[in-house]
Amino acid sequence: MRQEFVLPSPIQELSDKLFQAKKVRVFIKRDDLIHPIISGNKWRKLKYNLKAAKTKNFKTLLTFGGAFSNHIAATAIAGQTFDFQTIGVIRGEEHLPLNPTLKLAKESGMQLIYVSRSEYRTQNRLALAKRLVHEPFYFIPEGGTNELALKGCAEILEENDSQQFDYICVSCGTGGTISGIIQTINPTQKVIGFSALKGDFLKQEIINLLDQKYDNWTLQTDYHFGGYAKFKPELIAFINQFKTEHRIQLDPIYTGKLFYGVFDLIEQHYFPKNSNILVIHTGGFQGIRGFNKRFGNIIDVSETRFMDNK
Ligand SMILES: *Cc1c(COP(=O)(O)O)cnc(C)c1O
Repeated sequence: MRQEFVLPSPIQELSDKLFQAKKVRVFIKRDDLIHPIISGNKWRKLKYNLKAAKTKNFKTLLTFGGAFSNHIAATAIAGQTFDFQTIGVIRGEEHLPLNPTLKLAKESGMQLIYVSRSEYRTQNRLALAKRLVHEPFYFIPEGGTNELALKGCAEILEENDSQQFDYICVSCGTGGTISGIIQTINPTQKVIGFSALKGDFLKQEIINLLDQKYDNWTLQTDYHFGGYAKFKPELIAFINQFKTEHRIQLDPIYTGKLFYGVFDLIEQHYFPKNSNILVIHTGGFQGIRGFNKRFGNIIDVSETRFMDNK
């Protein structure tokens, strides 16, 4: 079931009455097209980690995540595709039947180990993993974010000609993706991160990930809609309308909030006239099915390709 990877992913211009009215141009980097499950930034973050694991002869990948994690799903499928065993350490108890994310992970051969929320919060996840698993494993942090992940995320901008963009807009969870982008753009370009989570810790985490001090980025912290995986009806309406108008799927956890924020900033004249704005579509569709299961099919997924078409 080896899927084709779409790389480099294309950049497309979006047209919308709003952009015309505000005299900006908006482009979208389609990392959502890379792969139906190992999509977007999760592939970027895994790429050099998989290479390192192969070079060092590891047979097993071990990582951490929540029960709906795109990273858990991506690691499971990547392991199956590139011949690794995979172990996912999952936050919280097992709930049966498994949700679509964990079902896919398990069916792809991932061994799932559940730990309590308090255990999961430990500062030293590697030590926890070593207590849980005694065979050797290649350790990948939650969300896939580490130094090699940043190297992969730098390629989001390096693989196309992207000098002409004044602003790069990207969704943030752990901050790994934005950090890779910040390190690779030229000094006249600006990066805007849209936090999918509530809280002020993200800025410091990004600073910690970066290899030096950079002044070319800012964070928007007003578009989390209540916090991670929280939403409001206007977010869902926006995602469905975007799908109808542009025929591009957004997810409610990350990219929906990102595009909602970009449209809102354009509305507020945040971007100077004639700005070229590149919005990174980081993928993440696999999470929609679990979301729709919980909340009653509120996201329109017609024509969206899920790997197993369930
Ligand atoms: C994980 C994820 C993010 C967040 O990326 P970070 O590198 O953790 O900031 C953004 N978008 C999607 C679709 C994701 O799956």
